Amino acid sequence: MVKTRRIKTIMKAKPTIEGAGVRLKRVFGYHEKELMDPFLLLDHFGSENPDDYMKGFPWHPHRGIETITYMIEGQVKHEDSLGNSGSIESGDLQWMTAGSGIIHQEMPHRSDDIMMGFQLWANLPSSSKMMHPRYQDIKSSEIPEIVREDGSSVRIICGKLDGTCGPVSEIVTDPEYMDVIVPPSKEFTHSVKKGHTVFVYVFEGEGYFDENMDRLIKSEHLVLFEDGERVVAKAKDKRLRFLLVSGMPIGEPIAWYGPIVMNNREELDLAFREYREGTFIKHS
Ligand code: MN
Repeated sequence: MVKTRRIKTIMKAKPTIEGAGVRLKRVFGYHEKELMDPFLLLDHFGSENPDDYMKGFPWHPHRGIETITYMIEGQVKHEDSLGNSGSIESGDLQWMTAGSGIIHQEMPHRSDDIMMGFQLWANLPSSSKMMHPRYQDIKSSEIPEIVREDGSSVRIICGKLDGTCGPVSEIVTDPEYMDVIVPPSKEFTHSVKKGHTVFVYVFEGEGYFDENMDRLIKSEHLVLFEDGERVVAKAKDKRLRFLLVSGMPIGEPIAWYGPIVMNNREELDLAFREYREGTFIKHS
């Protein structure tokens, strides 16, 4: 008998200010780091007003983590201190493994329409914190979209659904990252690995994520699941859209300050000292 995961906890995204003054919604962060392991943070940015985001995220370092940027609408330009640059556009995703260190900036482009996307941070285990930095830049056209018989559609960014694999691969925490749309009144189920942390974040419509349909989950809410082997989602009377994310917990101590996440205070102090002294970059 396959065990359907039950709801462990529900979180509501909260307005916050990040970077050089970007207004966004934080879904979870520092205080939830043990609960969400291996994930550290999820930010949902979305606005029709360029004043909310144009200040962007100027030059800053990362070490010990991965940052995953998924654009629904709009454009973010990024460049790093090694001369890499590019643009993440509507439907594109960048999976950046900071590893031993990158120094970069992420600057949204002015849009006449809505600008919207997500940034997820995933932790790295101690054995991978100082690995070579790596980018997986995925264009929207490279992301497979599965449509099921009942009309549910899923963009598979990382992981496997109905025999199709997403383009992001070789990530140490064995994650899944999917963008799921369920038509009104329809149901979506997906097998997940036992022991992995699994959450959904609803950003359109509302629906149920438990078999008994006890709790209606509205937009801008996250559901973290108990352990089990599959998840279920049922749309109410409008279409339901959510991110489905899973990953293997790391279970190590976390020493986190700003954009750098290590295992202990000494490693954190060293990282900031190296950043000040200009010896932060280890791999080019
Ligand atoms: Mn960054």
